[in-house]
Amino acid sequence: MTSAPLIDLNDGRTMPVLGFGTYSIDDPGVMTEAIESGYRLLDTATRYENERAVGRAVADAGVSREDLFITTKLPGSEHGRDTPRAALEASLERLGLDHVDLYLIHWPLPRVGKFLPTWEALVELREAGLTRSIGVSNFLPDHLETIVDATGVAPAVNQVELHPYLPQAVQREADARHGTVTQSWSPLGRKSDLLDHPVLQRIGQKHGLEPGPVVLRWHTQIGAAPIPKSATPERFRANLGIFDVTLDEEDMAAIAALETGERLGGDPAEHEEF
Ligand code: NAP
Repeated sequence: MTSAPLIDLNDGRTMPVLGFGTYSIDDPGVMTEAIESGYRLLDTATRYENERAVGRAVADAGVSREDLFITTKLPGSEHGRDTPRAALEASLERLGLDHVDLYLIHWPLPRVGKFLPTWEALVELREAGLTRSIGVSNFLPDHLETIVDATGVAPAVNQVELHPYLPQAVQREADARHGTVTQSWSPLGRKSDLLDHPVLQRIGQKHGLEPGPVVLRWHTQIGAAPIPKSATPERFRANLGIFDVTLDEEDMAAIAALETGERLGGDPAEHEEF
């Protein structure tokens, strides 16, 4: 059994460089099997309405809590200076845990205009020990500047849409300026045609990998931390089995050429969900 290598965070902690995305999975058995097959990071969110199932999987898997890295996210309805504490406590109750490893602001909601006081609240939640690390999701470079300038605390992680069609070079540079790890959501391009691309098929044949694992290896080689979702054991095992393969310069250039710049999900400058 292999587990993903760890990546350093800017707060002195570490995080598995590849994790298990749980969006749309509510069967704890699938997640228990993922943990037992080597996954150590589970990514959930209040909005996914599966925190109880994640908690069940953590309790059932024969892996100690300290070896697992559990991420959840604050929904838009709870932005503010005073609301995040109760929101995180409710998540912890559903998860059956006394702390998470990473708590993220799910979306910046710039029109609502409360992401700065929300970030200040997360800083306190970390100090209170309810979460080990704090971060953001879908924060554009100017959102990051705003919270770092005001608080002096840079997010450990910024979780953004990232895949070969949208490699996010500018966003990754902005994250890196703050020592913030860029974590990739929809790393496989979700339900797009990405994994059917002949370039990925060809690179896969060269290395004995399916296109999905090729894409995940590309993420880790550009310094990003993907959280692929799969409810299919054969696929989620293959997605983790990438670390003894290295893509060469030619492979990386061929994947870079797939960029279209098109988002599959919402634009953080406008997207609102609560
Ligand atoms: P994704 O991981 O890019 O793609 C998931 C799809 O790929 C599923 O249909 C899965 O099918 C399939 N798949 C997985 N491995 C495969 C493989 N090796 N070969 C072929 N197909 C494969 O998309 P996502 O679920 O949107 O994103 C991943 C995670 O990111 C989510 O689960 C969630 O945790 C997080 N996320 C965060 C945000 C945010 O705003 N922060 C937004 C979206 C997602 P099967 O399940 O049938 O195997």
